[in-house]
Amino acid sequence: MAGIEPQPGIMEIALYVGGKSTVDGVSNVIKLSSNENPWGPPPMAQKAVRRVVHEMHRYPSTDHAELRAAIAEVNGLDAARIVCGVGSDEVLQFLAQAYAGPGDEVIYTEHGFAMYKILAHAVGATPIEVAETERVVSVDNILAACTERTKLVFIANPNNPTGTMIGLAEIERLAMNLPPQAILVLDGAYAEYVEGYDGGARLVDSRDNVVMTRTFSKLYGLGGMRVGWGYAPQAIIDVLNRVRQPFNLSNIALKAAEAAVRDTAFVQKSREENSRLRAWLAEALAEHGVPSDASTANFVLARFGSADEAAACDAYLQSQGIIVRRVSGYGLPAALRITVGDEASCRRVAHCIGLFKAGAR
Ligand code: PMP
Repeated sequence: MAGIEPQPGIMEIALYVGGKSTVDGVSNVIKLSSNENPWGPPPMAQKAVRRVVHEMHRYPSTDHAELRAAIAEVNGLDAARIVCGVGSDEVLQFLAQAYAGPGDEVIYTEHGFAMYKILAHAVGATPIEVAETERVVSVDNILAACTERTKLVFIANPNNPTGTMIGLAEIERLAMNLPPQAILVLDGAYAEYVEGYDGGARLVDSRDNVVMTRTFSKLYGLGGMRVGWGYAPQAIIDVLNRVRQPFNLSNIALKAAEAAVRDTAFVQKSREENSRLRAWLAEALAEHGVPSDASTANFVLARFGSADEAAACDAYLQSQGIIVRRVSGYGLPAALRITVGDEASCRRVAHCIGLFKAGAR
């Protein structure tokens, strides 16, 4: 195959490793590795999918008008400025494809989501990783890293895998001080877990350089359906729709998501239970000598004394049928990210970490 080469940057990509779902020889695992909603899928989405099964021979909508209208209605947004993708990953990909290329720089933060770097490489741009301050995004560090080649700045707020977030005033300061050719992408995959936070929607309304992305994979309980969306100034939406494939979302995924947006009872219950159990889990871990940062999302970042201890705890949990997420690839080798599960799962993981700290191996 000499002479056949991929585009520059492609071989720099470290393959994305998803959360494990199985442990050899163990049935009934407790999966707390992918920040999924333990109470999902939403009942209204299940009903909608059963109805749409009869439409499988039809192509889906190309403009996603019904889903966009539902999202706009529930969130108080302008439907014309929403774009839907195969997970929010695809919306992030549209942004990279449309706005960054060879010679351009794409900024993300030290413990930021793995896809930002992958997408930069995929389009031949240069990924620029910026230091955080004690696992919190630093606006000053980002601004200091900006150049005339910066095209995209990705921040997850709340951030995965730290669970921390920065306030809207800081985000606005960042947006106001970016170089004129740069877009700030506020990745709100976990935004709905934060009471009273709009993910940056009002900022998108007031500025021409801010885009917000959201997902149905977390609070809305539809990780397997692969639906996400972005909210942006009209000029950016018009660009993103040019790189979007016309039939990117299946009619099943579209109907499931539309029903999920309107399943307010499910969403409310999931949010409340998550807050309650997250606080419980963080406290239980602290009692076992495992601190975590104050999380605003649906997971906690449990910190151990060393990378070895985190690895040993991970192995012990797996032996007990519990899967959590190692985050060494995110610059956090001494930590484990634990999704907030249902009550029984939270109690079980806390109990096993307690046994591990007391000497079980
Ligand atoms: N952004 C962040 C910060 C995430 O953690 C994830 C999921 N791991 C995503 C985006 C992508 O999610 P999805 O493609 O399922 O919407």
